[in-house]
Amino acid sequence: MEGMFIPTRAAGLETLADFVPRAGRDYARDRNHDTGASRDNVSGLSPYLRHRLLTEREVVAAVLERHPLSSAEKFVQEVFWRTYWKGWLEQRPEVWRRYRRDLAELSPPNGSPSHDYEEAIAGRTGIDAMDAWVHELIDTGYLHNHTRMWFASIWIFTLGLPLQLGADFFYRHLLDGDAASNTLSWRWVAGLQTAGKTYLATASNISRFTDGRFSPSGLATTARALVEDSLPSPEAIPTAHSAPAEGRIGLLLHEEDLDAASLFSEHLWLGSGSGLVAVAGSADPDARSPLGASDAVRDFTAAALEDGVERASREVGRPGRVLPDALPSTALEWAASERLDTVVVPHSPVGPVQERMLTLEAALGSEGVALTTVRRRWDTLAWPHAARGFFPFRERIPGLLREQGL
Ligand SMILES: Cc1cc2nc3c(=O)[nH]c(=O)nc-3n(C[C@H](O)[C@H](O)[C@H](O)COP(=O)(O)OP(=O)(O)OC[C@H]3O[C@@H](n4cnc5c(N)ncnc54)[C@H](O)[C@@H]3O)c2cc1C
Repeated sequence: MEGMFIPTRAAGLETLADFVPRAGRDYARDRNHDTGASRDNVSGLSPYLRHRLLTEREVVAAVLERHPLSSAEKFVQEVFWRTYWKGWLEQRPEVWRRYRRDLAELSPPNGSPSHDYEEAIAGRTGIDAMDAWVHELIDTGYLHNHTRMWFASIWIFTLGLPLQLGADFFYRHLLDGDAASNTLSWRWVAGLQTAGKTYLATASNISRFTDGRFSPSGLATTARALVEDSLPSPEAIPTAHSAPAEGRIGLLLHEEDLDAASLFSEHLWLGSGSGLVAVAGSADPDARSPLGASDAVRDFTAAALEDGVERASREVGRPGRVLPDALPSTALEWAASERLDTVVVPHSPVGPVQERMLTLEAALGSEGVALTTVRRRWDTLAWPHAARGFFPFRERIPGLLREQGL
């Protein structure tokens, strides 16, 4: 899988086709093993799903065409973990705001990172597994799920480093780096997500599931849950816009959702014959962190955006533009040059892109241009069920699949 993340939808579709035969009982049996970079027991689809070069719906549909749900249940549930985390955070934006605040306080110029932190992210903890994983993450932009759990556990409970700095290190380097999946998985390991329930990495578990590649000594033997101020009650998920936009419409894609064709098929008023006259895209991966994103993440995001804009422009039959930056003024210039009445954007869940879209909405509004958000049925149907733990959510999966016609 190493070096296999080519940032196009076509490459994502190839990865999917290659994986589908293994998505049934093989996946359920083998998925927890991290056998090293050539692993084929997991899909390697996360960078594609995260940017919606592929959609959750089409990945699940392809798997269910080949396997009955009873065999592919585990894989389908894993895809729904992504949906669950996003729906959960959508109802608790305060968790994201606190994470960003804490991180700003810990990062320069407000905070000065400790020597131990600097050593950890340089791969010099002296714990061979951790040091190898740091290099693997930096070199490939990817870590296996089990390894992410061990890494976060050792970071928090053995090294005693702040959760926020570990989550930030992941978020800067993971090609699939996602505000909800990353932040909430770190919180889950730390005993914040399921209050009091922590995840403790042990040498025997690591040795067993890395097929003996690692068996680190000196790991923490207890994991006391972190604590936090109580959270406000969950917020309702805002209803999705349903009224079609009028006048001259421009579609502005961004790094949360790069598959215009399937968006059009859900929102027919956007499709051919509509007032859609222009297509553009902008991305800002550096907004992930006070320290910006890694070069690998920047490159992947830029190429994925280009691919998304090109496909959308072909779909619409108009030239598409990749905007040179994600500043509101640049999007405003584009809207003015195309004489747009409305800019349509795919919904951006809680995270940096949403922050950017809120600023953009205000800037466009002051020039008399409306911003309309379109949300996918997949999210609209599933997110409200992510109000509590994953287990009640999981019970809903068969019903959600039926509602999706799957
Ligand atoms: C500390 C930590 C941080 C993480 N950060 C991220 C992140 O930033 N972005 C991200 O996409 N995933 C994150 N994950 C979840 C998971 O590790 C990755 O999604 C998975 O390893 C991706 O590899 P894959 O595509 O081969 O997964 P597969 O096992 O093939 O799973 C298929 C798809 O299901 C989804 N998925 C699988 N497991 C999870 C999970 N536990 N949570 C959410 N979605 C899941 C992914 O979209 C994945 O592509 C994190 C997990 C941990 C423990």
